[in-house]
Amino acid sequence: MIVAKRKPFNEIKESVSGASRILILGCGTCVAVCLAGGEKEVAILASQLRMAFQLEDQNVQIDELTIERQCDREFIEQIGTKVNVDDYDLILSTACAAGVQLLSDVFDHKVVVPGLNTTFIGVAEGPGVWTERCRACSDCVLADTGGICPVTICAKELLNGPCGGARNGKCEVDPEKDCAWVLIYNRLEKLGRLDRMKQIHAPKRHSVQEHPATIVHEAYRQRYTV
Ligand code: SF4
Ligand code: SF4
Repeated sequence: MIVAKRKPFNEIKESVSGASRILILGCGTCVAVCLAGGEKEVAILASQLRMAFQLEDQNVQIDELTIERQCDREFIEQIGTKVNVDDYDLILSTACAAGVQLLSDVFDHKVVVPGLNTTFIGVAEGPGVWTERCRACSDCVLADTGGICPVTICAKELLNGPCGGARNGKCEVDPEKDCAWVLIYNRLEKLGRLDRMKQIHAPKRHSVQEHPATIVHEAYRQRYTV
């Protein structure tokens, strides 16, 4: 999932300043799960903004709406069945940055500003705790590393074993964190796959990574190339 966190309130307030009709648009998928931008968080942010503007004697209308996903046109198109976007000066999106950008594309005559900082691809470890697990490198090595990502977890992004600086299983760069390669070794040992430690990975060719990347599923290729 995409993990995000809310921007500081003052930054959000500054980014919506000057607008007199604001739609706060939440997203019901990843950012709802990580308690940053779903329906409840939209309601809290709306209340905070209403109070802040009232204290300044500013008459600002703030409405709330949360859709299932902002990273999918199919759901964005449904906004029109619930509100008239043209009634608003500005949309404050609490989706991840992908959602904010798609919203800006669809409503390209509207100011759309982000309420969140998109932070990483990760997993839920327990209530209220998420950890980063993937940097989306497009060339996954998890088959050789016991399902532990050295690109994300090793401070030096080493692909072929440890740097030699680990002490008591902790990383030399940040002794609070486990050494990725100690974790990988232990996992491979547990799996009886220590031979994988001998696998040599070529350096990642970041230069051939396409940005911005596009993936077209084979079944849809004809539609996009004709
Ligand atoms: S190697 Fe790591 S960063 Fe690359 S795709 Fe796999 S999990 Fe993601
Ligand atoms: S101590 Fe381990 S995690 Fe830290 S940089 Fe070296 S190999 Fe990577």
